[in-house]
Amino acid sequence: MQCHTRRRTRRRSRRVEFFDGTLRTSAEFDDARIFDTTLRDGEQSPRTSFSYDDKRDIAAQLDAMGVHVVEAGFPVNSDAEFAAVRDIAESASNGTDVCGLARVVEKDVEAALDAGVDVVHVFASTSDVQLEDSMHATREEVVDRSVDAVRRVREAGVEVMFSPMDATRTDPEFLREVVETVSEAGVDWVNIPDTCGVATPARFATLVEQFTEWTDARIDVHTHDDFGLASANALAGFEAGAAQAQVSVNGIGERAGNAAFEEVVMAVESIHGVETGIDTTRITELARMVEEKSDVPVPANKPVVGDNAFAHESGIHAAGVIENAATFEPGVMTPEMVGAERELVMGKHTGTHSVRERLREAGYDPTDEQVRAVTRKVKDTGAAKERVTDERVREFAETVGVERTPERVTEGSR
Ligand code: MN
Repeated sequence: MQCHTRRRTRRRSRRVEFFDGTLRTSAEFDDARIFDTTLRDGEQSPRTSFSYDDKRDIAAQLDAMGVHVVEAGFPVNSDAEFAAVRDIAESASNGTDVCGLARVVEKDVEAALDAGVDVVHVFASTSDVQLEDSMHATREEVVDRSVDAVRRVREAGVEVMFSPMDATRTDPEFLREVVETVSEAGVDWVNIPDTCGVATPARFATLVEQFTEWTDARIDVHTHDDFGLASANALAGFEAGAAQAQVSVNGIGERAGNAAFEEVVMAVESIHGVETGIDTTRITELARMVEEKSDVPVPANKPVVGDNAFAHESGIHAAGVIENAATFEPGVMTPEMVGAERELVMGKHTGTHSVRERLREAGYDPTDEQVRAVTRKVKDTGAAKERVTDERVREFAETVGVERTPERVTEGSR
């Protein structure tokens, strides 16, 4: 097995106190590698296409953040794709390995090798439905072609990952045969793709454990979000012994997309307490970049990177957060960790604590009666489906006659 030996620079630990409670436990694993496929599966999102420059920019950001592997694309796809993968492989400098995708077809494998990638990711369908109605090949042909592809990459002295595509809908006996055969051919990594997103965490963990019995290669998992379980399944993969998970920024990808980079990285770091070596403080910046270039909008309630991920409106929650953010946030994950900001939103559910805080930040010194009066106006405005901006709050303060406190300027902690 030829694994890259470059040591990654570990950032200074910025762990917060781990939570006490019913879920308190020791970590199920102590190492987790992140394989980003934003530029490959992510780009396969319907209606998404990255330009050469988009790919270079996203790859550079991932490289700078310390992602372990970037799957830059599918080199045989076009000359432009080949050039992008080649130049990304050439320029990656922060210890990030660059991967290129290839079918178990000679020209695909040669294109990936010509592009100079560190890892060639070869894949072949193994489920009967895909063998019959997509790949149009027999089981025997798939095994032979997979072995040829793995051997060719090995001969070229390049790391090779093999994916039995649609593994989760494949006959287990055949899956075992494929995995054992490519392992004998010297594969470095075996990926377990839940191509159509039908796995559940416990079932997927069992499958990962089976793979560890079938192969000595390192295990990687690739999970899709058709039932909203992609990130949970990726974590189940780590818990069951996988060394690496494939993710995409904002979870973009085929159909409902892939396990989300931001969800998997933050869960690994914050819930499991395992350092990935990735600079998480640039996650929000990365998410915005990919949102813009992919043209796939991030929903407000998206974990970690959505506009509401660290926003609070309702009275009890906002009041708690003003005293101690850990009251109604995970505590083990803060907006600072991902380069975001906490926000107290004014609206229908706002209580007096938020309003007092906001008025003080805006340089007012309200009485309790004035706070209640402004709060009523905030709630009425929110209930009328109007946005309560800072300007509106200041208007309300002036209307109610709240006095300013010139010596007490913005405290900055919105
Ligand atoms: Mn996929």
